[in-house]
Amino acid sequence: MGQVSRTVIKGGLVITAADEMHADVLVEDGRIAALAASGGRTAAGWTESADRTLDATGKYVIPGGVDAHTHMELPFGGTAASDTFETGTRAAAWGGTTTIVDFAVQSRGNSLRAGLDQWHAKSDAQCAVDYAFHMILSDVNEHTLKEMDLLVSEGVTSFKLFTAYPGVFYSDDGQILRAMQRAAGNGGLVMMHAENGLAIDVLVEQALAAGRTDPRYHGEVRHVLLEAEATHRTIQLARVAGAPLYVVHVSAEQAVDEIARARRMGLNVFGETCPQYLFLSTDNLAEPDFEGAKYVCSTPLRPREHQAALWRGLRTNDLQVVSTDHCPFCFRGQKELGRGDFSKIPNGMPGVENRMDLLHQAVVDGHISRRRWIEIACATPARMFGLYPKKGTIAPGADADLVLYDPTAEQTVSAKTHHMNVDYSAYEGRRLTGRVETVLSRGELVIDNRQFTGRAGHGQYIPRGTCQYLL
Ligand SMILES: [Zn+2]
Repeated sequence: MGQVSRTVIKGGLVITAADEMHADVLVEDGRIAALAASGGRTAAGWTESADRTLDATGKYVIPGGVDAHTHMELPFGGTAASDTFETGTRAAAWGGTTTIVDFAVQSRGNSLRAGLDQWHAKSDAQCAVDYAFHMILSDVNEHTLKEMDLLVSEGVTSFKLFTAYPGVFYSDDGQILRAMQRAAGNGGLVMMHAENGLAIDVLVEQALAAGRTDPRYHGEVRHVLLEAEATHRTIQLARVAGAPLYVVHVSAEQAVDEIARARRMGLNVFGETCPQYLFLSTDNLAEPDFEGAKYVCSTPLRPREHQAALWRGLRTNDLQVVSTDHCPFCFRGQKELGRGDFSKIPNGMPGVENRMDLLHQAVVDGHISRRRWIEIACATPARMFGLYPKKGTIAPGADADLVLYDPTAEQTVSAKTHHMNVDYSAYEGRRLTGRVETVLSRGELVIDNRQFTGRAGHGQYIPRGTCQYLL
């Protein structure tokens, strides 16, 4: 492969969740070997013996992003997410994300193992960056509960359950409690899509019967209180089970409040939000001519006022992780399935390529610090899902997943220039300050000065440890 064994990244500002320092980074055989003060004698010695030197003067050197919530090729609503593992992980690399944790799906009546095998068949030898799996548990029974133990020991250490989507992924409270009890015993982490799906289905039916069929009603029927209620309920179930809980894609202020209260009580309750809830709102869902369908996802976008609570939660650590829930469907031919009936619009939005840049914009805008940017996008997701310090930081021994980031470059987000396999951008025309310039994955250049130099199959499957926030 002609792999370069010794690379030095010179003169950049190295940023981790813990520190910022002007340092040179020595990469040997795919891992970070050492850091040394820029301009010092140690660093000068490295440059002489290096096979390759990358000049990061004026740039940030940051850990590759860890996106802990993606759905490549997910079958949903009679269609499938438009990014394959190949196209989706290539787009991830373009956006400075070097690890994804995707969701393997157990389909009803089948084993967890069968679902996992299916996801490996789609992804193995396809990915441009490293990948791992959570497991979606859609059928809690004696057999699947036993299988959970086995999966944890093999490196699939988190299990997503749903209080939403009756008849598809939905689990009732008894099933959720059983899965949580099992996780309490085997070290697994239960991830929750917290929305009251039974109540939402009633409101959907009533809205459609009243002729309210436009995309914006998707947001109205998925009421904030039904997110807050399911968040509250599943936190109590986790308490009863003595299990930790990770709530995915938190969008409502009232749900943040539930998580904050649980954390004040000292419970192991964690919360994730996504860029779409931080940067978009029901104003987008209300765009005319069915354009609102582009923004249909669940939990739904909320009125703009909720954004302040999400930013505050990220600053106070009531929310710990920003993932994308990347689940793209093309506007033409896929989102259009829901013309005249918002309930038939495939739920999901593209975003895996945009997350690091949007969160850098949040630094520019003064919502979060640079180190917090790295913490919520790299370090904490790695710790939460048992990947740290191999992923999520820049330290001796860590994988050399590194991004040279230009903090002053200006870019305009557009479907014309993005690399995700989807015909629109949720952030079309948005001006951002900052841009990924070069990306290394385990020491190999996958993006070299805004050129893709990676390949399908470079990405390795990473078996994970258990959540590192638990004793
Ligand atoms: Zn999801």
